[in-house]
Amino acid sequence: MTVLINDCKTAELHLIGKIQPCGALLAIDRTTDRIAACSENASIFLMRDVKDLIGNHWSDFFHSNDISMAAAEDDPELYLPTITESVLNDTPVVISSHPRGPFIIVEIETRSDEAVYEHSDRLRFLQRLAAMDTPDGAARLLMQSIARITGFDRVMLYKFMPDWHGKVIDEQNKPGVQGFLGLHFPAADIPENARRLYAVNMQRIIVDVTASDVNIVAADEVGALDLTYSQLRAVHPVHIQYLQNIGARTSFSVSIKVAGNLWGMVACHHLQLAPIGFRRRFLCEELARTVSLQMSGLMALEAERSRSEFFAVKSTILAALRMNASLSASFNVYATQLLKVFAADGIWFNVDGQDLRYGVVARIDALAVLNKWLAQLDDQEVFHTSRIARELQMQESLVKHASGMLYIPLGKRGFVVFCRNEQKEDVQWAGNDRNSASGNCEAQEFTPRKSFDKWSELVVGRSFEWQETELESAARLREVLIDHLERTELEQLALQDGLTGLANRTMFENELKNAIQVSKSKVRIVAVFMLDLDKFKPVNDTWGHAAGDELLIQVGERLKKLVRGRDVVARFGGDEFAVILYHFVHLDEVRNVASRIIEELHNPFRLEEAEVQIGASLGIALFPEHAAEPQELMEKADAALYEVKRSGRNAWRFYDTDIMPLGDRAR
Ligand code: GH3
Ligand code: MG
Repeated sequence: MTVLINDCKTAELHLIGKIQPCGALLAIDRTTDRIAACSENASIFLMRDVKDLIGNHWSDFFHSNDISMAAAEDDPELYLPTITESVLNDTPVVISSHPRGPFIIVEIETRSDEAVYEHSDRLRFLQRLAAMDTPDGAARLLMQSIARITGFDRVMLYKFMPDWHGKVIDEQNKPGVQGFLGLHFPAADIPENARRLYAVNMQRIIVDVTASDVNIVAADEVGALDLTYSQLRAVHPVHIQYLQNIGARTSFSVSIKVAGNLWGMVACHHLQLAPIGFRRRFLCEELARTVSLQMSGLMALEAERSRSEFFAVKSTILAALRMNASLSASFNVYATQLLKVFAADGIWFNVDGQDLRYGVVARIDALAVLNKWLAQLDDQEVFHTSRIARELQMQESLVKHASGMLYIPLGKRGFVVFCRNEQKEDVQWAGNDRNSASGNCEAQEFTPRKSFDKWSELVVGRSFEWQETELESAARLREVLIDHLERTELEQLALQDGLTGLANRTMFENELKNAIQVSKSKVRIVAVFMLDLDKFKPVNDTWGHAAGDELLIQVGERLKKLVRGRDVVARFGGDEFAVILYHFVHLDEVRNVASRIIEELHNPFRLEEAEVQIGASLGIALFPEHAAEPQELMEKADAALYEVKRSGRNAWRFYDTDIMPLGDRAR
């Protein structure tokens, strides 16, 4: 069979204007109580020609209790059919009625002698369900119960995977019936529009794939009936063909919806004709809804567990950050915990130029490539993937160790990436989707695939999927880190000189304390330089304050170049600068730096409007020789500086005991 269909992704899934022949359907106008449409076979139950039914009051043909004309629920999700048992034309029937738009849709089926599910069965079921501690376990119980209730030949537990392809995770088959356990089914087998319907109407029955559909006859003014919630709706021939190809005569499925999302379904096939009536179908739906609730609860519990694990790590992180302001230093403390919470194999941490890696991560050269790739992502949002990007597939090391990535951007400050190793998987597919048109919805000619033969695909470049709670935690972690970075940035600003960006007096004093502390144990020299520019005022007076500022900035830059990375250059305000030289062994080295500073600052400065020449006076005090305390060191360096100014400027000198203490002189 070939069906022409232009948009198989959006097409209606019930055939408009037709139902399956296993029952009859009527639409009753809710305002007039008249029959607006009915299936051609309604005459079997109502002993009247279809043309005699349409336009007449329903109560002329039914008992008054047969049909419920109750108003529609506003929320279609809350729709419920009213089911009554009755006798029409001496035939015991089950009548289901539900409101839909301006109509009550009435469906009539012959009442079959069905085994009843006793209260004790229900209780036993609930007891067993309560004992299940995983969602999959609960779903298995549902599958077993439905297998028992339907007695069908093949009953499968079909679970949707993250890309909406399905996997049969359990099945219960009669002996000799072909099974599909562990096999994957392409997403195109249950396309999006089908899934939409499965999510609102929990059941789908196809009583007989060989039977022809029955037409619905309607009064002229009645448009197409919406049979979304109908039991008897005729399904698309593609589905019928699909079932025939898989060898089923009767098919029945019940959806499993967890926390509002379609999780999977119990799909039942019978190889022979096996009518299954309203009561058993609704019993299955009831059990499925009960199990869905339990699964939602178990999943919420699981999510809560993983959330509280994250909150524990978060506390550790906050405590560590409180102890040590540096993010990179603290990361060591909680990296292992983070790996566990995010079920990652490695963390790559790149903040403020610090590059730290924990666990298993890709090679450095591959990370450089990844860095470039990450840079072109939106740097405001957490990004995740469980599939290596095409552009990165050339990097073997990335494929191996970063097929899965959870990327937490930290703005200009850098990023954190959690990496997951590649999980090569031998996926067993039921039939090759690629050899048929069923995967190709753009095709004008749409045929269901014919083969369900097993074939395997080696899936590479993929990791385990990131869970919803992991993404949630990643967003929270990002907040914590950004918060911290912003706060330390503010603290940093409070320690900086606004004009030159050098350390200010507060930071200088902190650093000096540190330097002394460390030197005490290491027997090293710490030198404090106090500088004041010579003849700076005239620059301001001649070229303006802005030129003076420019000069101060350039002085700062020259000073920075003359010292080592860990030494500290500060501006105290005005034209006063200060330097800490960390941990010298030889005094000559200190002398050397001092001379070069004097020399360099005497060289002309190129300002925007002029070239100027100034000089600098520099006083030096040493730890431990001149003082053991920061304050005293600074005072003595200052006294030495004053001595230089007094004796002619543009030179440096060490403090010595001949120099008058600072407090005893006027500057
Ligand atoms: P001396 O050789 O004795 O050090 O004299 P000097 O001309 O360098 O003047 P002094 O050090 O006594 O004074 C520094 C001057 O720097 C005083 C003030 O007008 C100026 N000044 C202070 N802060 C700033 C500033 O932020 N920008 C500019 N452009 N000038 C400043
Ligand atoms: Mg000066």
